[in-house]
Parts: sequence; structure tokens; C-alpha cells
Amino acid sequence: MTGAQAPGAVPDEGEVVTYERRGPIAVVTMNRPDYRNAQNSVMTYALDAAFTRAVEDADVQVIVLAGNGKHFSAGHDIGTPGRDHHVRYENKAALWWDHLDRPGGDQRYAREVEVYLGMCRRWREIPKPTIAMVQGACIAGGLMLAWVCDLIVAAQDAFFSDPVVRMGIPGVEYFAHPWVLGPRRAKEVLYTGDRFSAAQAYEWGMVNRVVANEELAAETFALAEKISTMPQFGLALTKKAVNQCEDQMGLRSGMDSVFGLHHFAHAHNAEVGADSLGGMNAESMKAGATRRDASTAENRAM
Ligand code: ZN
Repeated sequence: MTGAQAPGAVPDEGEVVTYERRGPIAVVTMNRPDYRNAQNSVMTYALDAAFTRAVEDADVQVIVLAGNGKHFSAGHDIGTPGRDHHVRYENKAALWWDHLDRPGGDQRYAREVEVYLGMCRRWREIPKPTIAMVQGACIAGGLMLAWVCDLIVAAQDAFFSDPVVRMGIPGVEYFAHPWVLGPRRAKEVLYTGDRFSAAQAYEWGMVNRVVANEELAAETFALAEKISTMPQFGLALTKKAVNQCEDQMGLRSGMDSVFGLHHFAHAHNAEVGADSLGGMNAESMKAGATRRDASTAENRAM
């Protein structure tokens, strides 16, 4: 999501994404644990560079996407000191002009078609199997990162939500909800904005495995090892086969049409209120978070 312009220097946080090889497995890890791995642009382009490296390394068979710290990702960066939506990066995903120095919807569309929708689609097409290894929060933009992976292994403490309807916006930019949750559950998740647990996500078919937190890495790498014995080109074609069928089921065209509604909502917010996020920020979004099963104070301690 793109809010108001806030020019200023962005602190250097060092390696916001780390890359590691474990035999045939590349491990790409988001590394902003102090901000629950909130996704800013520098992280987006670092993720893209890491994925590219893994694709080009012939010895990498499987890619694991992880988040350092207690949480996988709390979503798009809408309020850390490293928020960098006013910084220019070379476009990678979309052949479109840069968002800087553009007014209104022109700016929002240019940015989101590149860093959110475009990047997620690009990563979904990575020709090697990808596995999201998810613990703690996996919220809004965090869901997008998990969803673009082929498989999701979740720790027992993982929780998920897309609360952006609170901003008056019909879901995050990569609108996979009806396909990964089913239409009725997608509506419930969006209408309530509630968090749902790893067990619930498993029951709904959104994640492949739920494992104890201390087993998360071992279980994920065991699965990756098993997949890594398959022929590389066979895996690439298989991935393409399933993705093509998912697109035949309307994922791509549905997402295109919803992206228009998403930007209509941003524009409406900007037209009638203070900004394109409906006056919401990281704090107010967090304060509104409740669980699907209960809304006690302790459950709000994200
Ligand atoms: Zn947006």
C-alpha cells in the first residue's frame, strides 16, 4: 500500500535479506526482525536479487523463504524508520515508469504494479520449487509472500490475516484469497479482518504442514531435501503446469480485475480523507487485530 510522501534519509539496516546455501537448498531469509520483517522496497529488491541468484545457481534445486526472528512478516512497511517508498529503485517486474514525481493515482499505480503485484507474480513464476517457512505473524503483505511460494510449512504459533478492509480496501494487492482460501472463507477472512491460526489454515488447505515451532526448520528442510532429488527441469515444468491450471481457474485475470478495485479504493480514500490508507497506520491496524476464535487482550499482543 502506498501512503503519503515522506521524503527523508533511510537508515542503513545492513543486510535486510540474507542468502545461504544448504546443499541443494537456497535459504532466503528476511532480516528485519526488529520490525517483524515489514517489507520495504530495499527488502523487496534484495529478495528479488536473492531469488535470481538461486535461480541462476544450477546446483540449487529448492528455495526456502524464511523470516528471521519471532515473525515471518507483518506485511508492507507502512511505518518503520526504513520506510522507503520515496526512494528510486530500478524497476524489475513491470515495464512502467517510476512512481517518483508522479501525482495521485499515477504514483500509486506505478509503485504497486511494480513492487507489489508485479514482484509477487514474478516470484510465483520462479522456475524452482519454493517453500515458505512461516512462524508468528504472517499479515497482509506477509500473506502475499507466503502465497507466492509453492508450499507453506507453518509453525504452530503462526497466525494469518488480511485486515486491509479496515482501510476500506478490498484485500491486499496480490488478490489470491478466493483461490487459496475458497470464496466463502475468503469473504469471512476479509469481512472480519480476524487472525486465523496455523491449524485453521491447514484445515482450509492454505498450508501444507503445521509443525511444532522447534521442528519448523527441520521439517521444512526435510521436505526441501526430498523434493531436491527430483529432476530440475521436471520440477520446473510441473510448477508451470499447476500455475497454468490455477490461471485457467481465473487467478491471473481475477487478480487483474481486483487490482482495479484496489486502486479505486486507494483513490477514494485519498479523495475523501487524509490519505490513500483511509487514515490507518501500523499502530491503528495492530490495535484493531483480533483472533477468529477470541478477541482477548493478550491475543492483541503482536
Ligand atoms: Zn495498495
